[in-house]
Amino acid sequence: MNPLVQALGAAKPALMAELEELYKDLHRNPELSMQEVRTAKIVADAMEVLGYQVTRNVGVTGVVCLMKNGAGPTVMLRADMDALPMAENTGLPYASTVTARDPDGIEVGVAHSCGHDMHVTWMVGAARVLATNRAAWSGTLMIAFQPGEETAEGATSMVRDWGDGLFPKPDIILGQHVMVGAAGTVSYRPGVTLSAGDSLKIRLFGRGSHGSQPQTSIDPVIMAAATTLRLQTIVSREIAPTEPAVLTIGSLQAGTKENIIPDDATIKLNMRTFSEDTREYMLKSIRRICCAECEASGAERPPEFTTINSYPLTENDLVATQKVAHAFGNQFGENASLAPSPASASEDFSIFGRTWGVPYVFWFVGGTNPEAYAKAKQERTVNKIPSNHSPKFAPQIHPTLETGLQAMLTAAGAWLCPAA
Ligand SMILES: [Zn+2]
Ligand SMILES: [Zn+2]
Repeated sequence: MNPLVQALGAAKPALMAELEELYKDLHRNPELSMQEVRTAKIVADAMEVLGYQVTRNVGVTGVVCLMKNGAGPTVMLRADMDALPMAENTGLPYASTVTARDPDGIEVGVAHSCGHDMHVTWMVGAARVLATNRAAWSGTLMIAFQPGEETAEGATSMVRDWGDGLFPKPDIILGQHVMVGAAGTVSYRPGVTLSAGDSLKIRLFGRGSHGSQPQTSIDPVIMAAATTLRLQTIVSREIAPTEPAVLTIGSLQAGTKENIIPDDATIKLNMRTFSEDTREYMLKSIRRICCAECEASGAERPPEFTTINSYPLTENDLVATQKVAHAFGNQFGENASLAPSPASASEDFSIFGRTWGVPYVFWFVGGTNPEAYAKAKQERTVNKIPSNHSPKFAPQIHPTLETGLQAMLTAAGAWLCPAA
């Protein structure tokens, strides 16, 4: 067993009870992306008490905690802190009833429907075990509590604020996410493990007119409808069937009234790809089709493209993943497994490693009641289990809390405990 997990020892029940309280408190008090003021204060204060050198407000609300403990590698652990603009519908006694103003000033429900509250709790627990068992490891520990993962702003803003020489360059960066899967299990994958995600807003310009006189208009509704259909042919007709890709148009807006032909229409789309080549190809195809459809309609202006957000591929380092997999095998036995395929979900976690040229590993921790998950698997209804971003998503606290804590300690220990 990993010495850090062993170090949990007799103190485990007390630590777990404390972490459960922290988790429920964070769950009840979610904060929107880049507004994680309360969460950041809770973790920064806790880390200071543990003896970490704490720097606040790195990338708006991010927190970086350093602990130097003798010779050895510099290991960076990352947890994201933000919640989503949606109302929670789990019926749990500790469910969120919080509302807040989003960046557009609109009042929205706020909920930890992606489980980042669990990530923060795991990290505080791991930080506690590491700080109180310094004889069990050696090296430099750097813990990053990151804001704004859900808007792809957080990692970028932390990297921008990182500053020269303020923090050491890590040798490895580790992160984890709770998702649908039997609680008590972990899964990992070398190489591409999460898709790249790109969201675009596309404005198509027509010429407004009276609905009774279409000959005096350039109808952006027709333009948007044709563009929407044609964009669906990128994945179905231009990408090889063996190459996974997704293109979803989640928003299509034009006009106000049935007898007014509007001036313009707006499409918002999201795409997911699993290779850089496919990503670039699809971005080019989207432009080609939008421009050609506008031209086909006789538009007097080309369409306008705005990036809403962009998540790079999460591509785990092969050697480092092997190291994590080996450690997980020792710790979790058959409860650690190789993920059969990359997940069609995206993260900004890789931005740290990509920017600095540092290897990284990101893995998954199951959060579903194990019996319910086994039953769903048998009945082939896994897709019906509320997933991340569902208003009904909430991990089962035990053993998810223990497993994520152990996973983080086990992976960190693969670098920090040379004899492990
Ligand atoms: Zn999410
Ligand atoms: Zn997430």
